[in-house]
Amino acid sequence: MNNKNKLNFIQEIIENDLKLGFKKKKLKFRFPPEPNGYLHIGHAKSIFLNFNLGKYYNVPVNLRFDDTDPNKNYKKFIKPIKEDIKWLGFNWKKECYSSDYFEKLYDFAIYLIKIGKAYVDDQSQKIINEQRKTPFIKGIKSIYRNRKIEENLFLFNEMKKGTFKEGYCVLRAKIDMNSPNMHLRDPIMYRIIKKSHFKTKNKWNIYPTYDWSHGQCDYIEKISHSICSNEFENHKPLYNWYIKEINNINKKKIIPKQYEFSRLNLTNTILSKRILNFLIEKKIIKGWDDPRILTIIGMRRRGYPSESIIDFCKLIGLNKRNNIIPFYLLENIVRKYLNKISIKVMVVINPLKLVIINYNYDKTELLYIKKNKNRIIPFCKYIYIEKKDFSLKKNFFRLKIGKKVRLKNAYIIKAISYKKNKKGNFTKVYCKYYPDTLSDNSFSNLNIVKKKLNKKNKVKSTIHWVSTKEYLPIKIRIFKKLFNKNILDINNKEEILKNINKNSLKIYSAYAEPFLKKAKFMYRFQFKRIGYFCLDKDSKIKEKKFIFNKIVSLKEKQK
Ligand code: ATP
Ligand code: MG
Repeated sequence: MNNKNKLNFIQEIIENDLKLGFKKKKLKFRFPPEPNGYLHIGHAKSIFLNFNLGKYYNVPVNLRFDDTDPNKNYKKFIKPIKEDIKWLGFNWKKECYSSDYFEKLYDFAIYLIKIGKAYVDDQSQKIINEQRKTPFIKGIKSIYRNRKIEENLFLFNEMKKGTFKEGYCVLRAKIDMNSPNMHLRDPIMYRIIKKSHFKTKNKWNIYPTYDWSHGQCDYIEKISHSICSNEFENHKPLYNWYIKEINNINKKKIIPKQYEFSRLNLTNTILSKRILNFLIEKKIIKGWDDPRILTIIGMRRRGYPSESIIDFCKLIGLNKRNNIIPFYLLENIVRKYLNKISIKVMVVINPLKLVIINYNYDKTELLYIKKNKNRIIPFCKYIYIEKKDFSLKKNFFRLKIGKKVRLKNAYIIKAISYKKNKKGNFTKVYCKYYPDTLSDNSFSNLNIVKKKLNKKNKVKSTIHWVSTKEYLPIKIRIFKKLFNKNILDINNKEEILKNINKNSLKIYSAYAEPFLKKAKFMYRFQFKRIGYFCLDKDSKIKEKKFIFNKIVSLKEKQK
């Protein structure tokens, strides 16, 4: 798909189906999120796969909200999910909800009862689970398994009407209590839940299980290839059993087929919506859009361009085996995009004052940057440089006494002397500047000294700086991995909490060149020699409160 000559394994299956006579125009796909949280990069993988299949074959892709559980708060996640899919650049043909089909699912269930393949079981969930046993031990059949069809029909209707309390009974498919596949040991189709559903309100007292609803929704929507992640592989025999049975009602030609691919995992992070919600509740992250997590909205806030997420999905491709993708692969792609689109500016995080001894105290010179005429940098006697750019060490390559360096976009300077405080830290560095060495990249409103084309003006290093007279105070947020290691068992909350990286967020004050006042949300900047940043939504521009998120470092790190 990314490359027309290289098909992924799902496409190979589809191509084969087409060869065997399946009509191309009958192809249809769906993306079926449960709206119990925000989408994450794992969903992006599934979105990319399904919507690209739609594009490639020019056939519809439905967005189906899997909203079968009235206990969950689905309503608030519908809109953001749609926004995230659009932000990734995709559009669905039809917006559907599993609840749209509750009536049909009910009718299908009645049919299964009528043909003797479903029954009402009055046993408790606990007993039912115990009777299922384990794959190598035969299950125990429920004493209600052979209830008469009329009785089942009557009881199921009573369940629907709300006659019974929650947990009083369930509707089960009658399949095989000895099957080595546990999903086939008389799975539950309906349970009584006396909750209002955000779409169907109080109409139902019974709600379908995932297994009973998912495949049937695919069938109703005429989805040809139903693609899901690996954990559903064991559910496939049940998926096929249900569809085969209900297809006998009114033989349809499109029998959906389920195919699985590996779930996306990345190093030192967790993707599950359920666990992300837990981290929010525990106040470990600040919300679904916390830039440290890989929700679509979090990545967007952090400043990842949507194209880079799509490129990442292309790069990782599709396979069957679950693995953990190194985080730096994603960062490398993000960096590649940022390099193209970001505006370069100078910001100093740990300032050291530099005094230019041969520059007038009251003079301010404006340096115009040739490549970006809007960017004007004030130059004056006192400037800030980064602390780490000055040292007395012998082998130091940047500023040291008697050595010349270039101030980025400005002049060459030479360090003459320095001052230290009682603690032994540098407080000031005194330098001389060379007026005839203005950078080729800029021109000055004052300096008319002709440049000498002198080889001596070549220096080994260039450092960034900010004027002390005119600068913008900003805050920057630096993010590190959320976990100290890969969490292999996401159900182990203790393990999760134990491995939280307490330093995953650090906030610094910094001095920025005045141009950064023009920053708008989602503008991306390269803070020279520091990294890529974007303005965070917590900023209050009118109040001159600027907060920038670090998107990614400048250079690749392979760790
Ligand atoms: P979560 O545990 O994060 O809630 P889920 O699988 O329960 O994930 P759904 O909303 O049910 O989330 O998933 C919608 C679709 O996205 C499904 O087809 C699912 O297989 C797929 N999906 C979810 N997470 C991933 C992932 N990490 N990698 C690939 N596909 C995923
Ligand atoms: Mg789920």
